[in-house]
Amino acid sequence: MTDIAARWAELEERVARACAVAGRSAGEVAILAAVKTRPPEQVVEVLAAGARVLGHNRAQELAAVEPRVRELWPGGYETHFIGALQTNKVNQVLRHATCVQSVDRIELAGKLSAAACRLERTVEVFVEVNASGEPTKAGVAPEEALDLAGAVAALEGLRLRGLMTIGANSPDPGVVRAGFEEMSRLSAELVGRSATAGARELSMGMSGDLDLAVAAGATMVRVGTALFGPRPS
Ligand SMILES: *Cc1c(COP(=O)(O)O)cnc(C)c1O
Repeated sequence: MTDIAARWAELEERVARACAVAGRSAGEVAILAAVKTRPPEQVVEVLAAGARVLGHNRAQELAAVEPRVRELWPGGYETHFIGALQTNKVNQVLRHATCVQSVDRIELAGKLSAAACRLERTVEVFVEVNASGEPTKAGVAPEEALDLAGAVAALEGLRLRGLMTIGANSPDPGVVRAGFEEMSRLSAELVGRSATAGARELSMGMSGDLDLAVAAGATMVRVGTALFGPRPS
């Protein structure tokens, strides 16, 4: 077994344990492999280990790596874009990804919608929320998240899957947990509205905080370093 295959198996166990602790079933939480900075050969290893969702952060890297991975890996998988997205990169990203998790403003959603219509495709999206309020983080403010999500869901060519966040950068688990719990409340409110009742997903939790995220109701965790080791600096 390769290191990556062993880490994938450990990660699945970790997610299953976190689910069990929370009284949830392990099938409720998908694992997205965050592949930024990793070469195509390592991305293929994680697919061979069982990953079925990949996440990319940079348009240029996505465009370089994804075609090679498609060549090397015959099976099916989803490619998501999870990084900051400039509107002038929308077309490039949509050549390689089916889902954009980092929709944080209506202008970007409008561009994605226009591109989806032009391509005669449905583009899946998550609205990214800055639950921690840290100024360095992307995402719409929590108090504006439901309005943005409603507006995004109404755009032609887009399918809103749910909400996404990056956990607070804090050594205090209580602070991190509070952010995830706020996301869980927002998600419940979103699903309670008829226009967005289908947007049930909640993408949150990374290598360092996924246990807290699963406890708070994450349906997708996004994991890089726990699968691939530390990123080259
Ligand atoms: C890199 C990244 C992750 C994974 O982070 P790790 O700490 O390496 O697990 C998750 N989400 C986003 C948006 C990222 O950029």
